Amino acid sequence: MPVYLSRPGPDEPLFGVVAHYGKVMAVGNWKGFIASLFGYNARFNSGLAYNLDQVALQTTLSMGMTALEIVEQMTLFPYYAAFCGENLRKRILERMLVWRPEHLPGDILKLVQRPKVLRYCKASVDQDRREEEAIRWRRCHQLPGVFCCPQHADLLYEVSLAGRTVRVWPALLDVLAVNSEQVQIAPVRKSVIQEVAELSASILLGGERDQGALFSIERSWNQIARDCGYARGRRTLESAQICKEMIELFGEDYLGRCAALPESDQNWIVGRLQGTQTASRSLPEILLSIFFKSRENGSTGHWPFCPSQFASHGSSHRVEVRVTRNSQYFCYCSCGMSFVESRQLREIQKSTVSVYGEPYVIEARRLAALGYSGAEIARRLGTSESTARRLMRRAQQYANRSIARTIAEAAVGWSDALGAQGGNTGAQKAYDGLYRRMRRFCPEKLDSTATDGNISK
Ligand SMILES: [Zn+2]
Ligand SMILES: [Zn+2]
Repeated sequence: MPVYLSRPGPDEPLFGVVAHYGKVMAVGNWKGFIASLFGYNARFNSGLAYNLDQVALQTTLSMGMTALEIVEQMTLFPYYAAFCGENLRKRILERMLVWRPEHLPGDILKLVQRPKVLRYCKASVDQDRREEEAIRWRRCHQLPGVFCCPQHADLLYEVSLAGRTVRVWPALLDVLAVNSEQVQIAPVRKSVIQEVAELSASILLGGERDQGALFSIERSWNQIARDCGYARGRRTLESAQICKEMIELFGEDYLGRCAALPESDQNWIVGRLQGTQTASRSLPEILLSIFFKSRENGSTGHWPFCPSQFASHGSSHRVEVRVTRNSQYFCYCSCGMSFVESRQLREIQKSTVSVYGEPYVIEARRLAALGYSGAEIARRLGTSESTARRLMRRAQQYANRSIARTIAEAAVGWSDALGAQGGNTGAQKAYDGLYRRMRRFCPEKLDSTATDGNISK
């Protein structure tokens, strides 16, 4: 028996059209109605819909859409499809066209959220009324993490479906009659939550095809984090700092609502950065995209050069490790030099060297041996006189040891410290100087000896 579903309004989901039809036609036997439309006892689902070959067949006369058109225009499939590989995409699509009664496989369940709420925007409802359209649900309001109307920028209203089975699918008109709550978001977070909504909606509508700029397609999240100044060593990241700043950006409330609040040290952010969490997920990718985009703009991708005049790497050498905090770059170079560079509007304001490194010591010693005065040595090194004298005094102990020997000794010391302290974290606390030496000269050894995760906290 054909079902005369009306053609969907712009962005109207299939569940909304079905609910609207049921209400207008005052369908009494809801179960039988759903079973004849879908060809099986379909459960209420605000995201995807299954067995659409059957639905297309049943509605040829009224909607006149193919199953694929329904998939693309009336479900959240285009959104989820943007986050998964070819193979998973194909499998979801097969299920959506022809339902199989087995349970959904784990990778589909991980990707596709089944939110226990429906959301709508009062401004959108008002717009429907003004334009004398049927008042309708919108797909983009049902996307994970979307609490703001992408069109009107108003916070959405939520109807909870938790704890009750949806027997008769809810039409928006019926929901408007009962009390629903507006999502509460601190005003300061409004713009970033709005950004999540706009980005998510643009993916759903397929307008955002430039995914290279959005997702870690060309670069891994790890690489993006390094490029944004969160490198700690050659292979380690300031991941605790990233978690902290992500919470600052999105707010605990919002992340909590999305079940995306990083709680322990091994959380989804660390997992995504390390590449150990590989399941196709939509919202985490969106949150990371927005976060790193904001950081990339902040740092303009600048990577400082090592200012050492005596290092064997020569001039125009970019430092290995750069950490960004408040428009300052804390830099550690493999030559042993550490310095802080402050920048404003892309101009270097100030560069302060905290450690000159062995090449300066060797040069100071060489000049001293040639009989130069302290003042003259300072001039040639480009340091203050007291620093020059300090470098000369340390010459003795430094110059008799090569960097290779320093590294070898540090590595032995570190492995002893690890043994004594039972792990990276303990050793780092107990032997800060040694840890810094390791970090500067042989960070890869720190990684390989790490026992508590190779992204340091
Ligand atoms: Zn709206
Ligand atoms: Zn250097």
